Amino acid sequence: MHSIDQAYIDGRFVSPHGQEQMELVNPTTGDVIGHVVLADETDARQAVLAAKAAAPAFAATGKTERLELLGRLHASVMARSEELRDATIEEYGGPVSRSVWVSRFAAQTFLDAATTLRDYEFERSAGRSRLLMEPVGISTLITPWNSAAGSICGKLAMALAAGCTAIVKPSELSALQSHIVAQAIHDAGLPPGVVNLIHGRGSLLGPVLCTHPDVAKISFTGSTATGKAIAAMANDSVKRVSLGLGGKSPTILLDDADLDTAVPGAIVAAFQNSGQACIAGTRLLVPQALLADVLARVKSAVEQMVVGDPADPRTQIGPMLGAAQFERVQRYIRRGIEEGATLLVGGPGRPEGLGRGFFVKPTVFADVSNDMEIAREEIFGPVLCILAYRSEDEAVEIANDTPYGLHGYVFSSDPARADAIARRMQVGRVAINGMQHDPLAPFGGYKQSGVGREYGVQGLESFLETKIIMEPGNERSAS
Ligand code: NAD
Repeated sequence: MHSIDQAYIDGRFVSPHGQEQMELVNPTTGDVIGHVVLADETDARQAVLAAKAAAPAFAATGKTERLELLGRLHASVMARSEELRDATIEEYGGPVSRSVWVSRFAAQTFLDAATTLRDYEFERSAGRSRLLMEPVGISTLITPWNSAAGSICGKLAMALAAGCTAIVKPSELSALQSHIVAQAIHDAGLPPGVVNLIHGRGSLLGPVLCTHPDVAKISFTGSTATGKAIAAMANDSVKRVSLGLGGKSPTILLDDADLDTAVPGAIVAAFQNSGQACIAGTRLLVPQALLADVLARVKSAVEQMVVGDPADPRTQIGPMLGAAQFERVQRYIRRGIEEGATLLVGGPGRPEGLGRGFFVKPTVFADVSNDMEIAREEIFGPVLCILAYRSEDEAVEIANDTPYGLHGYVFSSDPARADAIARRMQVGRVAINGMQHDPLAPFGGYKQSGVGREYGVQGLESFLETKIIMEPGNERSAS
C-alpha cells in the first residue's frame, strides 16, 4: 500500500498541517492502493512563504547556473522514469507504451527548456531604449491528472529557466506520480524553497494560491470550467495567468486523403491516451462521397481495439481514471443515443470480460450533427463523433464551430491543400497526416481552449516580465 503523507516545502519533505486522507485507487481493478494526506490552506501559505524567501537569490542566477540546474533535473527525473512509468500504469491506467513515453517526456522537458534558454536574449534593445526580460516572480503551477508528470515538469522547467520560484499544486488524483516527481526534484539538490509541491484539493488550495498577494503568476492546465474560476480569482490582483484548457478537436479528412493511412491516423488521434487527452481529435469530418467507405473502415478498426490491462503491451485503451470519469463517459454515450446519433461501435456499459475497474467501450457515433452535445462538449473518453461535409468550406465551418480551439488534424495527399486548410482552422496547433510532436514549438489554444502558450520561446516568456530602461539624451520636448 502506498502512503503519501508528506508535502515538499522549503527543500524538505514535511508532514502537512492538513489532515484529510484521500484513498488512492487503481483504475484497472478498482482496488484501494493507498492514501494521500492532503495539504490545507496553512500548508499553501507555507509553500508561498518558502518560494518568496528563495525568490531574490534565484532571480539573480544567470543562464549558466540555470542551465546546469535544468540538466540536473533532467538526470534526476530520468533516473526515476521507470518508477514513473509504473506509477502511471498503476495510478492512472495509462497503457504501457504511453506511460513509457510520458515518463521520458517529463524528463525531456528540462532539456527542451535548456535549449530555449541557451539561445534566449534577456537583454536587447528596443527603439532607443534597453529591453530587459525579468522573472515574473513567484509562480503557482496547477496541473491535471491526465498528464501529471509531463505537465508538472513542463511548467517547472520554464518557470525555472525564467528565474521564478514555484509552488506546484498537482491534481489530487495523481499523488503517486506527483510524489515521484517531488522526490526527483529533491534529488536534483535545488536551493530550498525554489520548488515546493503540495498535494491537495484545488477547491481548498486554489483560493490561497490564486489570490495570495505574493504570487505573481499562475500557470494552469485543466478543464475550461476550472480555468475560468482561476482567472476570476486572479483578476483582483491582476496576476499573470496562462491557461491550458479543454478541447473538442476536429480532424478534417480531405477527399484526396490516402484512406489506408488516414483512417488509422484519425483513429489514433481520437483514441490516444484512452481518449483522456486534451488534444484528442474527437470530431472526424469526412467528405460525404467517402462516408460509407470511412465508416466501414472505422468500424472494423475500432471493433478490433484491445481494451484491458494497461500493463499488457498489446493494450490500446486502458481504464478511465476513476468512477466519476467512468460515469461521465457513460452519460455522454447515453446522451448521443438520445440525441439521435447512430451508434457505429461500442455503446453503454463495460466491455465484455472486464467486469471490474473503470473500463468503457471505445465508441463511435455516425450521423452526428455539430449542434449535438456529444459534438460540442469535451467528453474526455474514447468516444469519436463522425460528421459528414459536402465542401471544403463546410468542413472548415464545422471545424471552427466550437467554443474550443486547441488542436486540429488534416489528412490529405496534397501538402498545399492540407496547408491551406490548416491556415483556416481556428486552433493553436495543426498536425498534418499524423501525430507530430514538437517540444520546442509553443503549445496552447484559441478561444476557450486557453490563454497564452507553453513551451518554446513563448513558453519561457510567459514567466517573464518586460522592462524598458530609457537612456538620458532622448528627452521629449517639454511642451
Ligand atoms: P480540473 O480542472 O478538474 O483540475 C485541474 C487542476 O485544477 C487540478 O490540480 C485540480 O485540483 C485543480 N483545481 C480544481 N478546482 C480548482 C480551483 N477552484 N482552484 C484552483 N485549482 C483547482 O481538470 P482535470 O480533470 O484534472 O483535467 C482534465 C482537463 O484538463 C480536461 O479538460 C483536459 O482537456 C484539460 N487538459 C488540457 C491540457 C492543455 O494543455 N490544454 C492538457 C491536459 C489536460
